[in-house]
Amino acid sequence: MGETKSREPDFIREIVTEELKQGKWGGKVVTRFPPEPNGYLHIGHAKAICLDFGIAKEFGGRCHLRFDDTNPTKEETEYVEAIKEDVRWLGFDWGEHLYFASDYFEQLYEWAVELIKKGKAYVDDLSPDEIREYRGTLTEPGKESPYRNRSIEENLDLFARMRAGEFPDGSKTLRAKIDMASPNLNLRDPVMYRIRHVSHHRTGDKWCIYPTYDWAHGQSDSIEGITHSLCTMEYEDHRPLYDWFIEQLGIHHPRQIEFARLNLSHTVMSKRKLLQLVEEGIVAGWDDPRMPTLAGLRRRGYTPEAIRDFCERVGVGKTQNVIEVALLEHCLREDLNKRAPRAMAVLRPLKVVIENYPEDRVEELEAINNPEDPTMGTRKVPFTRELWIEQDDFRENPPPKYFRLLPGAEVRLRWAYVIKCVGVVKNERGEVVEVRCTYDPNTLGINPTDRKVKVTIHWVSARHAQPAEVRLYDNLFLVPKPDEDENWKAHINPNSLERLTNCYVEPSLANAAVGSHYQFERLGYFVVDPDTRPGALVFNRTVTLRDTWAKIEKQLEEK
Ligand code: ATP
Ligand code: MG
Repeated sequence: MGETKSREPDFIREIVTEELKQGKWGGKVVTRFPPEPNGYLHIGHAKAICLDFGIAKEFGGRCHLRFDDTNPTKEETEYVEAIKEDVRWLGFDWGEHLYFASDYFEQLYEWAVELIKKGKAYVDDLSPDEIREYRGTLTEPGKESPYRNRSIEENLDLFARMRAGEFPDGSKTLRAKIDMASPNLNLRDPVMYRIRHVSHHRTGDKWCIYPTYDWAHGQSDSIEGITHSLCTMEYEDHRPLYDWFIEQLGIHHPRQIEFARLNLSHTVMSKRKLLQLVEEGIVAGWDDPRMPTLAGLRRRGYTPEAIRDFCERVGVGKTQNVIEVALLEHCLREDLNKRAPRAMAVLRPLKVVIENYPEDRVEELEAINNPEDPTMGTRKVPFTRELWIEQDDFRENPPPKYFRLLPGAEVRLRWAYVIKCVGVVKNERGEVVEVRCTYDPNTLGINPTDRKVKVTIHWVSARHAQPAEVRLYDNLFLVPKPDEDENWKAHINPNSLERLTNCYVEPSLANAAVGSHYQFERLGYFVVDPDTRPGALVFNRTVTLRDTWAKIEKQLEEK
């Protein structure tokens, strides 16, 4: 980490550079990240955050965090707090520039009155369904509402009474008076205000009319002096509307630039769908380690560094595509490989007894914490007569090319001795419950070259082992693009979580802090889960060691 890869600047950075060269914006760059507090942030938002905050930082400007909280029925304070935590966790800081669109409700109201006075907005009595009907289609022009030509006085009076709470929900709207025949549907008299007699998480019961996102967004950017309003492609068609509002009002005009959303394979990203997964109990919560949310990725063991690296590699363009989750995992492995201390853990334990090793002896053997980073030093691991090894690392009747432990064969124990299997103990069902071995006392050494053994296996001293639960995760969806099917839930992976409750980890992990990362030798990267309690460790498998992305890259290079 910390290494900056020099990449070609993307088209947005090129635009900003060019504008600053021409002295536009008084040489300053002000961006914003504008989440709607109606769900948790996901990896797609991370791309927007890295772009918004990243550009501000690179050009010596600032980035605002603004909650676009215009829809009180779906928004909650819980989301506001979670979003702030996630942005900070990702490594970005808005300083004192925390804003809420709801802080601008009064200003927006005044501007709406101004548009009415200019004959550019009117109160409509059509119902939401009728408005939809009148709007027309991409191929047919819309129809003008019979209320479109109300007098300015009547509009001012009705709008004031809307605000005063005289009318029921859905009975009236305020609409911009633009062009019902415009080829751009967004310009066909878009709704600016709706009546909703509901409390807002910040303004309480002060308002019963709420601005639409389209009416609030551009003006909020303008109020804050945003220079570059970066948003995803679906807002391209809204840009003429935002421009129209700003021009009518004659206020500061930010430049909106659209870029392609990030899509990730084997997951869904729409907040509506993520909410469904949570509400229907398909996952344990917004921070379930299988979720593509930042809270979920964090709990899974993702690091902010890996996510930022991923966002940088994905880049910024205008074409939609689906990025392989394997790339995200690859970025994580690269980061953790450098930082995560190694440790030994046995997930599916099988007892090994070393017959020629004294019963009461304990040797503290030296183990290297991270071969990638000598500064991380070494630790001691206790070695005794009885050990746990992985069930998979022993076969009584091995398949061809099985080089691990089997009757009569030798393996090396990591950081310890070479052992040889001399027998097994079975239970009544004929299953091997214990492997009997002997050890060779002359084979100890950190870098053993003295002996030809094909395989080194990991182990934990039975007497010192710390019991642990380990949760193994797989993709939440079985197919790369579940969104392509309307029935997306049919593709949920029924085996996305496997809980192993009888695992053992080496004693140095007894007090491992929640959120700390380890590479369990030969098994993958793991992180301590918040469910951990004293004496009952819980680990999540963050990612396995098999890097499928590196393979894909290699194949591409060879072509
Ligand atoms: P909604 O459907 O609720 O509007 P949203 O995903 O657009 O969901 P917002 O809270 O409005 O969520 O998003 C905040 C910002 O993050 C917006 O500027 C949006 O363009 C950007 N963003 C959202 N999803 C992605 C994504 N997948 N990739 C890149 N940017 C995204
Ligand atoms: Mg949105």
